[in-house]
This record gives sequence, structure tokens and C-alpha cells, in this order.
Amino acid sequence: MNQKVDAIIIGAGVIGAATAYELSKKGYSTLSVDKLPAAGYGPTSNSCAIIRVHYSTLEGAVFAYEGYFYWKNWQDYLGARDESGAAVFHETGCMVMKTEVNGSLRRIREIADRFAIPYEEWGPDEVLERLPIYDMQRFAPPKLPADEGFCEPTGGTVEGAVFFPTAGYISDPQLATHNLQRAAEAKGAQFLFNKAVVEIPRTNGRVTGVVLDDGTRIEAGIVVNVAGPHSEPINRMAGAVGDMNIHTRALRQEVTHVPSPEGFQFEGAGFVVSDSDVGVYCRPETGNHILIGSEDPECDVREWVDPDDYNRDFTEQWTTQAYRLAQRIPSLGIPSRMKGCVDLYDVSDDWIPIYDKSSLGGFYMAIGTSGNQFKNAPVAGAMMAALIDYCEGGGDHDRNPLQFPLRYVEASIDVGFYSRLRQINPNSSFSVIG
Ligand SMILES: Cc1cc2nc3c(=O)[nH]c(=O)nc-3n(C[C@H](O)[C@H](O)[C@H](O)COP(=O)(O)OP(=O)(O)OC[C@H]3O[C@@H](n4cnc5c(N)ncnc54)[C@H](O)[C@@H]3O)c2cc1C
Repeated sequence: MNQKVDAIIIGAGVIGAATAYELSKKGYSTLSVDKLPAAGYGPTSNSCAIIRVHYSTLEGAVFAYEGYFYWKNWQDYLGARDESGAAVFHETGCMVMKTEVNGSLRRIREIADRFAIPYEEWGPDEVLERLPIYDMQRFAPPKLPADEGFCEPTGGTVEGAVFFPTAGYISDPQLATHNLQRAAEAKGAQFLFNKAVVEIPRTNGRVTGVVLDDGTRIEAGIVVNVAGPHSEPINRMAGAVGDMNIHTRALRQEVTHVPSPEGFQFEGAGFVVSDSDVGVYCRPETGNHILIGSEDPECDVREWVDPDDYNRDFTEQWTTQAYRLAQRIPSLGIPSRMKGCVDLYDVSDDWIPIYDKSSLGGFYMAIGTSGNQFKNAPVAGAMMAALIDYCEGGGDHDRNPLQFPLRYVEASIDVGFYSRLRQINPNSSFSVIG
């Protein structure tokens, strides 16, 4: 391992590994450091890895649509082959229920029209044709098990849904990250595991490298914080929080896995579903299971935690999510043995990520990914590399934000949208929906 590189990336999750790959492609010598034993072993490994294109903001939607094309052309993007195989994109499509909470998807459809993102509108009968196990009664608003009327219909039926075909999921998010590691290594990138960054030294307003927990010092003029739920402690370590208007913190999440109802192959015939009427999203999971995640309805308590000390066991939240989906799928069995995962989102104040430089020269951040940036990882990596190039080349990103041209979608991203200095964005859904 070299004791001096151009750029150190803290964190080898999917966005960290994509950043390493994209920087290496630009000719930077990089070292990715992760305290875990392999790439993508942190929150990335438990990601539901849903690739979808509906977002509440224009910028969010165009970013995600661009990301879709990277997953669609995954092996071409990587270039190098991985001896473990390439991650598979299951392009099932994604159905979003029209509800009061999402304003029957009017704004999202307008955004989709603007960027020619394809979609179909389905009435309740068309939904039932595809998912005969569904019950289209209304259950909103979502409730807690202790509340009166939990799991009881509230009158009428859901008006229908919008189906986005350019969507699906990656069944093995850790493998996708390993793919990025191998692609980066083929360009000369180095990875160091089982080592934590414990200090970020600086001189004259610039970062000078990192110190590891075994005392090793590695010099670099560029350090990138992609530490997921540890992003805020890393920013503090660098002394880079002073001018930040948006902060990040760790939010505990549970993901529930249940078998598909008997006689129905959700794994073959199902797709990604976002259903704010019952407060959960779901997707097919290997072994003909259904994976159920929370859409964080208002009634649920948000559990902000210390990323180094939180409860990794399932709680009543697991069962609540299963019951919520059972409203929509009455034949769903709730097994006594709980399967799924408990992990952390790194959530920003407005649930929109921070892809930015900092007040400390050479110190950058790709953080606050708020449970919804797996899909964007390759684009985020490319954008971070372009941002670093721009700033290191003398560009004043805070005053003249970088405009990042996209590869597939005819548009550019105003990277200032993701600034640490921004005001809280009122157009955000303030939830994992983004
Ligand atoms: C339960 C769950 C479900 C999700 N579902 C989806 C989804 O369906 N679709 C979607 O698009 N997104 C989803 N996400 C979000 C997505 O998975 C994340 O945005 C993405 O994985 C973040 O990747 P990352 O590169 O920032 O790194 P992370 O995976 O967050 O990893 C950060 C890494 O930094 C390392 N690290 C931290 N501190 C240090 C240190 N001091 N020294 C060295 N290493 C350090 C950690 O060990 C870790 O490996 C989900 C997230 C979770 C938790």
C-alpha cells in the first residue's frame, strides 16, 4: 500500500466504491479505507437496492433516471470483469399507488413528462389483473398496532396506480459494490479493509491525509467522506461542520421478509410497489419472498441513534410492516420466525443528499443518502469525481456551482442543488421517497 496517494475515500459502500472508480478513471491515485472486512459490508449490504425513477423533486427524478441506464448497461459501465460475477438488475418495473399523501402523483407525472420517463396509468381493475392477491380497499392513514382501527379499511378504494417500467431492483447490493471495487482496481485504485480512520490532519486550511486506528499515516491532498451513517462524526473529525447548513444523522430501519402467499409467485409475477395508503413499499425477494420496507408514515416514531450503539434486533416494527402489507394482501402469512434486516439510513435535514466540497480545502462529502441513493451510486460517483476535478482546478463551486452534464438523459445536474449551504428544500417528501 502506498503511504501517499492523490485521494483517500473514507467508506467502501456502493457510493464510496463508485467514487473510487470514477476518480481512478480520471487518473487520480486513490485509496479507499473501510473499517469493515469488504466492500459494501455496511448499510449497502442491507439496502433494498430498489431502482426507481419517481422522485418528488425534478433534480431527484432526473438523477435517478440517469442512474437507471447505468444499471441497465452495468457490465459495459464496469469494463472489468469480476470473478464473482456481475450484479443482476431485475427490471420488474415499479407501481406507485395514487393516494392523498402523494397528491395522486400529479407532480411526479409532470416531472416524468418533462424528461420523457415512461409510465402507464392503471385503474384498480388493471392492478388486480397483475396482482390478483391484492385488495384495493383504502386503509389510509397508516396506524400503529395500538391505535383503534389498525388494519381496518377506511372506506372506498384506492383510485389506481402509476406503473413505471424503467425500474426494478438489484438482488445483491454487496456484489454490485464488489463489482465497482474490481472495476476501480483495474484502473489502479487500492482498497484497505479492517482499518478505521481516526484522525484527519490538516495544515493551512487544507486536508493532508488520514491517520488509521493502527497509527498508520497516509498522505493525500484530497479526502472524501462517504462514511454513510458515520458521516457527521467524520465531518466533525475534519473540523468541517462550521459552515454547514444541512446536517446528517443516523436513523434506524427494519426491513421485513415474508413468504409470498401460497399459490402466487411474487418473485416471478410481482414488481416493486410503493403504497403510501398502507405506509410500506415492497419488492420481490429471492426464494419467492416479499421484502417489505417502511415509507415512514407520520404515526411511526423515528429512531435517531448513535451509529456505534443501537439495537440490532427486530422489534414490533417488523410485525407492523408485515401487517400493513397484509391489509393489501389478505392472504399474506406472517411467519413466527422473523427474517429481514436492521440497519441505518444516513439522513440529512431535508432527506436530500449532500454531494459537495467543504470549508476545508481538499475535503469533500457524498453523504446524507437518506435511504434512497443506492440507485444513484454510479452517477453520484461520476458527479463527485467531476466536482473534485472542478474544485481542485480552481473552480469556486460555492459561488459558481458545477453543472454536471449527464451521459444518457439530455440534461445537466446543477450540483449546487446538493450543497451543504442550501436552505432546507420544501419540495422534498421528507421521507425515504426523496
Ligand atoms: C435498510 C436500507 C434500505 C435501503 N433501500 C434502498 C433502496 O431500495 N434503494 C436505494 O436507492 N437506496 C436504498 N438505501 C440507501 C442506500 O443503500 C445507501 O444510500 C447507500 O448504500 C450508501 O452507500 P455509501 O457508499 O454511502 O456507504 P454505506 O453503505 O453507508 O457505508 C459507509 C461505509 O463507511 C465505513 N466507515 C464509516 N466510518 C468509517 C471510518 N471511520 N473509517 C473507515 N471506514 C468507515 C463503514 O464501515 C461503511 O462500510 C437503503 C439503505 C438501507 C440502510
